[in-house]
Amino acid sequence: MASDNKDRTAELWERANAVIKERIPESEYKTWFTRINLGSLEDGKITLYANSAFFRDNFSKTYKSLVEDALNSLGEGNFAVDVKIKSQKAESENKAADKETDKLPKVQKDKPLERKTNRKDVVLNSAYTFDSFVPGDNSNFAYSACLAIAKNPGSVYNPCLIYGGVGLGKTHLLQSIGNYVQQNTNLKVMYVTAENFTNEFIQSINDRTTRQFQNKYRKVSVLLIDDIQFLQKKAETQNELFNTFNDLYDTGRQIVFTCDRPVEELKDITDRLRSRFSRGLNIDIQPPDFETRMAILRAKCNEKKFPINNDVLEYIANNISSNVRALESCITKLMAYSTLLQKDISIETAKEQLGQIINSNKDTSGISIDLIIKTVASYYNVSSYDIKGKSKSQSIVLPRKIAMYLCRNLTDFSTTEIASEFGGKNHTTVIYSIEKVESLLKSSDNDTSAVIEKLKNQIKNESKR
Ligand code: ADP
Ligand code: MG
Repeated sequence: MASDNKDRTAELWERANAVIKERIPESEYKTWFTRINLGSLEDGKITLYANSAFFRDNFSKTYKSLVEDALNSLGEGNFAVDVKIKSQKAESENKAADKETDKLPKVQKDKPLERKTNRKDVVLNSAYTFDSFVPGDNSNFAYSACLAIAKNPGSVYNPCLIYGGVGLGKTHLLQSIGNYVQQNTNLKVMYVTAENFTNEFIQSINDRTTRQFQNKYRKVSVLLIDDIQFLQKKAETQNELFNTFNDLYDTGRQIVFTCDRPVEELKDITDRLRSRFSRGLNIDIQPPDFETRMAILRAKCNEKKFPINNDVLEYIANNISSNVRALESCITKLMAYSTLLQKDISIETAKEQLGQIINSNKDTSGISIDLIIKTVASYYNVSSYDIKGKSKSQSIVLPRKIAMYLCRNLTDFSTTEIASEFGGKNHTTVIYSIEKVESLLKSSDNDTSAVIEKLKNQIKNESKR
């Protein structure tokens, strides 16, 4: 009986495949139909097995009705098709069941997959270590957590997500974990940007090496994924990362992510992946304060064995407040100038040479959008992220409008630039907010105008520090 059913299923499947081959290009047939395995036929339902959720979802979406049509065109009755994942566990159970009951027909095995030369794995930058990182109030927590993770991967903070703005040291800390683990243990570490993860994954689909791709990421002890904001709108890669995450997490392996914004502000990320990102420890890195900026500048000068006068360092620290990479660029530029022209760096030379870097990092008023947001947030006792975020709560909406108004009033930034600093909003939102505040001021709303005056003074004073 069972054997008859098996033969009939296999025969139906073969005939249906002949029909399908006529209907889609050969390359497409090869890509999808040689990698789907025939399962059972029961009560008019044919079960097919895919090797991954990704494959199952895409196969179902694109080909399920084609397969049903093909089967139904054979004149053997109506069939429904069900596509399932054939996990390794299920596979071994199925094998056992096969032997016992001979229920499942033999499935056509995948051809052995060719191993194409892989994109080079990203090598860790050996300069990114805990020793070369200068922690400050802004980054102490993230620094300590990363160090604890490096010393005890998989056990203390797992998973961990470090988030914060551009150039604040996220990649540096992430790679410090990698370098530390590599130097002190035999554990396998993998560092990858979310962008490369995505590209490799897509490449593996094209090359039909998805399994190798999966093995590569699932056999590591420490997985470090940089800039997960890149995964927004990449549904298939999210799915793959979700499965990778579960695999590693369930077996106690360490996963650390970085992101340029808090997880709540990520758009187009599936709920289940978002919940994985926010599981465990989420820590932000803020821009460094003046003292930390000075400490970083001194450390960079020491590293490069390039002494610079304190007043020049202060000039840089005063003028660049929210990006450590820009601080570094200033030192590099002055060093090149001094070495090439054999000149010491005076404050005049620094001003002359660094103008461009400084200007591109802030406006001519010397007031950064960041400073305005921070000052307004602290006045209203809300967070900067709330101000930049989307919350429609009354306690956030007015401070956000006021912050936008102050940005337009105290700086030369365009409404588009302001909009992008406020979490990528549309510039019309900024224009609307400014108009709202202006109309409040015109309506002789004394409270608002007093608050705005106070905030303006506070921001101006702070920017001179
Ligand atoms: P992010 O990934 O947050 O954009 P990076 O880690 O790439 O920032 O940092 C930018 C540059 O600034 C790197 O060269 C890094 O070494 C340096 N940097 C950032 N923060 C610090 C710090 N606290 N101490 C020393 N160097 C830092
Ligand atoms: Mg980075």
